[in-house]
Amino acid sequence: MIEAIDLCKEYRMGTLTVAALRGVTLRVEAGEFLAIMGPSGSGKSTFMHLVGCLDRPTSGICRLDGMETSELSEHELAGGRNRQVGFVFQTYNLLPRASALRNVELPLVYARASDRRERAEAALASVGLSDRAHHRPSELSGGEQQRVAIARALVNNPAIILGDEPTGNLATAQGREVMAIFERLNQEGKTILIVTHELDIARHARRIVYFRDGLVEREELAS
Ligand code: ADP
Repeated sequence: MIEAIDLCKEYRMGTLTVAALRGVTLRVEAGEFLAIMGPSGSGKSTFMHLVGCLDRPTSGICRLDGMETSELSEHELAGGRNRQVGFVFQTYNLLPRASALRNVELPLVYARASDRRERAEAALASVGLSDRAHHRPSELSGGEQQRVAIARALVNNPAIILGDEPTGNLATAQGREVMAIFERLNQEGKTILIVTHELDIARHARRIVYFRDGLVEREELAS
């Protein structure tokens, strides 16, 4: 379960302060599939970064399964990042010179897992890419690269998957494929949060939350 209470984030740039989040309170139950929409600059990515422990709030509380992320040390934050949350980015963020399999294996290398080859192979198989294991990112389509990124996010078996515009760079059919994978993962029990600016994509989620000016403006249940 994800619990954000009055979450604020300010970015200081010299003398200028940008208030990216101005008091977001939002609860996401375990097993939910949530989409966040809203205009550019409304704080969606900032919110995802805080939930994913990639950054700390200026004030407010963010809890993952009851654990308050602002009270964790850098080291614990990194650990939480590895185990509880898997990230999928718009631009895939794969290592260009490494094979698909190696890219998926990397989080396990950091975690010093022993059976990492088998686990990486299983994660690649779960996104239907066993036959592309030895291809480099440049030898894969955008949709395939994003599926590799999903496999990488899955390899530590996190409870939560965060996708920041995961279909933003994909053609419609490839975007649908990626969303079908998210839907299946959600049916298997994963909590899924995605940011998107496309209503067609957001409708794959069960609930849509709209951000505006660093606040939750409204929410609706998707049909
Ligand atoms: P969205 O994802 O909805 O487009 P963001 O969370 O990226 O919104 O940004 C919210 C606001 O915070 C914007 O005004 C943006 O310019 C600012 N912002 C985001 N990240 C940073 C940063 N690292 N440094 C300074 N300002 C930032």
